[in-house]
Amino acid sequence: MLIKGLYRLSLIDFPNKIACILFLSGCNFRCPYCYNKALVLNEDIKGYSQEEIFDFLKSRIGLLDGVVISGGEPTLNRELPEFISRIKDLGFLVKLDTNGSNPEMLKQLTEKKLVNYIAMDLKAPLENYQSVCKTNIDIAKIKESLKIIADSGIEHELRATVLPALHTTEDIIEMAKTACSFGIKKFYLQQFSPKKSLLDADFEDAKPFSQQELEGIRTECLRYVDTEIRGKEK
Ligand code: SF4
Repeated sequence: MLIKGLYRLSLIDFPNKIACILFLSGCNFRCPYCYNKALVLNEDIKGYSQEEIFDFLKSRIGLLDGVVISGGEPTLNRELPEFISRIKDLGFLVKLDTNGSNPEMLKQLTEKKLVNYIAMDLKAPLENYQSVCKTNIDIAKIKESLKIIADSGIEHELRATVLPALHTTEDIIEMAKTACSFGIKKFYLQQFSPKKSLLDADFEDAKPFSQQELEGIRTECLRYVDTEIRGKEK
């Protein structure tokens, strides 16, 4: 398992918890707005051994509530259940960030009660997923992941980074309808923030929705699912 990043303290990434974040390398999607380019492309950045991570975590017992496992796409790592199991043995809660492409792993993690919170990305309307994830994904896997998460009884959120270059208002409302149809409890619209070193350089100057536009879209989404906006237009 390639652990390429450690963010030692976050007050915002694990709802209502003080947490650290571990970034696992590699991803099977190629979302153009992705800002974790080095992780996704498995670039040669010095990472951490598992033992370095566990030494750090042991030093944080009683100081942190939880650990966020992020990426890249963490579920690509076959040894994830054992890794999380060791984290939980230290008494930490675990939040998993995932793109939903590996329902088999999600099923394993939820059945073994290894995760306390799941945040899954929804990239686009289901019939048009490749327009955003830029990968030939089997959409049945995304649907299966949505069902596993909604039925798991585990606290969860569905989140979508949205921007006019990739999503129409109707697309986003369609995504809210999808969340509703699977029984997802919470939907976050994440404001796109243009910055350097995105996966697709053409998106570095892409325009975000204005805050007002996003508020209007949120109002529409609220007809289907509890929806919040995350992030501000920059
Ligand atoms: S934003 Fe897309 S490409 Fe980047 S880590 Fe998430 S799923 Fe992978």
